[in-house]
Amino acid sequence: MKSYDVIIIHPPRVMEPDYGKHTKFVRSTYIFIPMGVFAIADFLEREGFGVKIINYPLEQYLNRKWSLAEFLKKINFKVCGIDLHWIHNAHGVIETAKIVKEVNPNAKVVFGGFSASYYHDQLLKYYKNIDAVIRGEGEIPLLNYVRNTNKNHDLDSVANLSYRNASNHIKINPISYVAKSLNEFNFTNVNLLENAKKYFEYSRRIMGISLNLPIARGCPFNCPCCAGGQRAQQKLSGRDKVIFRNPEKVIEDIHNILDKYNIPSVFFGHGTYPTNLKYWKNLFKLIRKEKFDISGDLEIWRLPYPKDMWELFYKTFTRRHSSISISPRTMSTNVHNKVAKICDPTFQFPKNQIQDLIKNANLFRMTLRIWLTIGYPFQTRRDVLKDYLFTIKCLIKYGSSNFKPITIMSEPYYIFPGSPAHEDPKSFGIKLDYNSFPQIVDAFKRIKVTYTNRVLNYETKYFSKTTNLIINDLLFLTAAPMFLTRGAKYPKEKDVTIFK
Ligand code: SF4
Repeated sequence: MKSYDVIIIHPPRVMEPDYGKHTKFVRSTYIFIPMGVFAIADFLEREGFGVKIINYPLEQYLNRKWSLAEFLKKINFKVCGIDLHWIHNAHGVIETAKIVKEVNPNAKVVFGGFSASYYHDQLLKYYKNIDAVIRGEGEIPLLNYVRNTNKNHDLDSVANLSYRNASNHIKINPISYVAKSLNEFNFTNVNLLENAKKYFEYSRRIMGISLNLPIARGCPFNCPCCAGGQRAQQKLSGRDKVIFRNPEKVIEDIHNILDKYNIPSVFFGHGTYPTNLKYWKNLFKLIRKEKFDISGDLEIWRLPYPKDMWELFYKTFTRRHSSISISPRTMSTNVHNKVAKICDPTFQFPKNQIQDLIKNANLFRMTLRIWLTIGYPFQTRRDVLKDYLFTIKCLIKYGSSNFKPITIMSEPYYIFPGSPAHEDPKSFGIKLDYNSFPQIVDAFKRIKVTYTNRVLNYETKYFSKTTNLIINDLLFLTAAPMFLTRGAKYPKEKDVTIFK
């Protein structure tokens, strides 16, 4: 029987998904493991602990009869970490903890991730299968938790930890660990993951992305519904500034992965904005120097994204799987202005700059994804109608050609706990639902695995949850031809003559 000091389980969203005929379209199974998990696992291993990562939804996808309980019965382990980063895993994470404790009642179960950080006290209060929650950043705290539990030492010195002590009282240690640098961490020790090769293969197939690569930690912005922004992070993890990895470390990661796995593309886990373009240019230059044959997925967090960046992106990555994404959420300047006024002055996506993106995407024949959301705070019916017309215009202009790679994406949104709109719903004109963790667990228990998220936790003056879901679906279906034509048959490199 194999023994590990620590196992880390990435939980499913739905315990027994009914995939039906849509096996290839189960994006919401979300087999992605949060990027930081690999660094945490690697850090523990380097400190001498035996570690294994198990991706529950991946195992389930590979073998419909796979059972976590049966898997756990065949191994020994002392501590089980479970990530609750995305709130969509709320039901799956509680069920996973239950299975772990049923099989191994003596193991310690510890949660981590953004959503766990937000609900740490409720998790410990309502769920006896959870022994501890690590808030914020986890490398040193989990290491010290494992060391102290191994030696039966007190846990009161473990940074960022909330836990139930021997007398069954909930104790909350202060947040005193925030990583100052990321350069000592290894984000690509995927050898610790069960079925690592399949993970990359199926990530690409199901989620459209092979490898998520950390570039930095933190974000300088405050988008209304995101818990990864600056103010939310300050509250959840004590992080008040962005730190970047040395570009050379990113190159090392790409080498590590390409040496062992056949990865067609890399998704960069940090976006572009005017003050960090220099970093991106430097990184792209190093990637070109290495002559990696790889595509890139890049997000634009704030505009402008100038033409020279398109050119560098074009020269750096193979076009086949590459994409650039932006999430204005709506094309309404009115909505952007309102958000800018109460939440983040940089939340501006001027129409002329979006048009420039479209123009450059067509020029360089690089996929551009524009993400919209119906029912976004402050959006009126008129705004939605305009977004719909914008989508139809794009569809007519770009929807039937592989040579015009513009895609409009739409998704119903769950307002993340800790985000500005979640913390002050009234100012954003929304009404929030599911304010306790057990209610959230129940909401996610009832969903089916589909292409997009189906659980919404808010409604606005103009859109009920049901209307919101229906119109998002409608927009998604309207835009589908653009998605299907955006490069399935892409032009050969020699056909692109812009730089020749
Ligand atoms: S959605 Fe906005 S706040 Fe969140 S990580 Fe992206 S840019 Fe930052």
